[in-house]
Amino acid sequence: MEGELSPEQYEILRQKGTERAFTGKYWDCHEQGVYQCAGCGTELFRSDDKFDSGSGWPSFTKPAAGEKVATEQDRTHSMTRTEALCATCGGHLGHVFPDGPKDDGGLRYCINSASITLKKK
Ligand SMILES: [Zn+2]
Repeated sequence: MEGELSPEQYEILRQKGTERAFTGKYWDCHEQGVYQCAGCGTELFRSDDKFDSGSGWPSFTKPAAGEKVATEQDRTHSMTRTEALCATCGGHLGHVFPDGPKDDGGLRYCINSASITLKKK
């Protein structure tokens, strides 16, 4: 699969890049399906858990299954943030913020479109 990554996907997944807000493929996508890791195909998020955060990045309240998405402390850019990674291939997905919908766990998984692929239902 590795060889199939576009330069943008490679930059985000392997070099922890971030796409510009409102430029990705999925921030405004409302199609039903499952979002897979663009690096390894693991099912990471479901469209049912996607919400409009207004951030310009696809946002989810939770992973498809807890163990599919790993988190790590990220202290780059003079901030302490929680990085979200694909637990299977270690690919960088985005960050987790504590400002998600309160009635649905309160978390926002802020994910780069380039790191995921929608498999439509
Ligand atoms: Zn992966």
